[in-house]
Amino acid sequence: MSSITIINPATDEEVATYDRITQKESKDKIAMANQTFGRWKATSFEERSNLMHKLADYLEKHKEEYAQLATREMGKIIGQSRKEIEKCVWICKYYADHTKELLADELVATEAKKSYVTFQPLGVVLAVMPWNFPFYQVIRFAVPALMAGNVGVLKHASNVQGCAFALEDAFLKSGFPEGCFTNLNLSSEHIKEVIADKNIVAVTLTGSDPAGRSVASIAGQNLKKTVMELGGSDAYIILEDADLEEVVELATFGRLQNNGQTCIAAKRFIVLEDIYDDFLIAFKKKMKAAKMGAPTAEDTYYGPMARKDLRDELHEQVQKTMEQGGRLVLGGEIPQGKGAYYPATILADLTPGMEGFDEELFGPVASVIKAKNDDEAIALANNSQFGLGSGVFTSNLERGEQIALQLEAGSSFVNKLVVSDPRLPFGGIKNSGYGRELSASGIKEFVNTKSVWIA
Ligand code: NDP
Repeated sequence: MSSITIINPATDEEVATYDRITQKESKDKIAMANQTFGRWKATSFEERSNLMHKLADYLEKHKEEYAQLATREMGKIIGQSRKEIEKCVWICKYYADHTKELLADELVATEAKKSYVTFQPLGVVLAVMPWNFPFYQVIRFAVPALMAGNVGVLKHASNVQGCAFALEDAFLKSGFPEGCFTNLNLSSEHIKEVIADKNIVAVTLTGSDPAGRSVASIAGQNLKKTVMELGGSDAYIILEDADLEEVVELATFGRLQNNGQTCIAAKRFIVLEDIYDDFLIAFKKKMKAAKMGAPTAEDTYYGPMARKDLRDELHEQVQKTMEQGGRLVLGGEIPQGKGAYYPATILADLTPGMEGFDEELFGPVASVIKAKNDDEAIALANNSQFGLGSGVFTSNLERGEQIALQLEAGSSFVNKLVVSDPRLPFGGIKNSGYGRELSASGIKEFVNTKSVWIA
């Protein structure tokens, strides 16, 4: 039997080893999930809502334990791990309180005596999830899916299996029937058989572009619906009238949050030439002052990356960008010692064709780009294979909104870093994926939108 050993990215120490399940065990678990679906789909919104509130309470009660676990497995600084669990609690409560209205039948006036649209659950949904928000990403999928009457099976990232089992346990201990939410500790090599399993009706994936392409194509061959939440290289346009101090504060947080490993992190800073030099000076000062250190220490601003291989890949991207003409303003060197640490790094004067402009930099590395005017800034922002989030900083809200509307992305925020919020749809366009999570749009991804006509 194969197993997976998890390494603490801050210390290089082993955290735990988990046995992988076999394909036969996986098939049995999916069959059991499908049996549970037969009963779960018949439960009322009130029953589901009661259980979801219990899950919220359970997560709240175990916040410290789960936060420490996430920090041990993937290196998130402890304060942000706690916030991640708090956000999970919010999602549980939001869908517990709103699903009934979000999925209410919609009457449509036709020639019929009665005609309406109703939203029925589909069955067992497979979620392939990443390590960067090991609790939140899973909850963001599972809570609406279960509230809609589906059941979920999880193929979590290998390096956060402790979090995966903790979530399975949390659902069970909160009173959800066995089979409502199941962890499949499988290697991604076996995902093909899982997707092809007759009991799997749909797949959602959050992760990298290659993982997304592979899973979506297998699902396509099996004619199974998918939602893809992939990478991003979010552009933030900084206009000359922006409050520089505030922008630099947000830019530093946006780039270093979660140790730089967030799909909607601020990655490309497109700065108008009038304030370009001032921005770089202030940004360098702030990024330099941010304290890198142990993720368990309360005063650490950012910690290690999740794995050494990811850190090394990021470093190669930094070097490649410099060879292509990018200017290193800060950082760019792998520190001595243990852990997958990488320092806050700034690459400036980037142009299309350079690695740091074209590709996602999934770590604490900021790409800074100069633009002559609003139109050039918009064109540079849109010159990307990705389209997840985007933003504008300006003191002129009207100008900001006009620019925001022209940005090719799933969301555009003015004077605020992009965040996910259960009240608003979340997702991307272009190579950032398709489909939406959260809000009414998200919960309706995995339902049968059914027309009923009574003649
Ligand atoms: P991956 O995309 O490879 O992993 C995410 C999930 O997909 C994991 O559960 C992983 O399983 C699974 N997976 C990977 N490859 C396949 C495949 N071919 N078929 C089925 N499942 C697969 O992320 P990495 O950990 O390799 O991170 C690499 C890059 O991914 C980052 O640099 C970043 O660009 C991007 N990323 C983006 C995220 C986002 O939120 N948009 C989140 C995480 C990563 P397993 O761990 O077992 O391989």
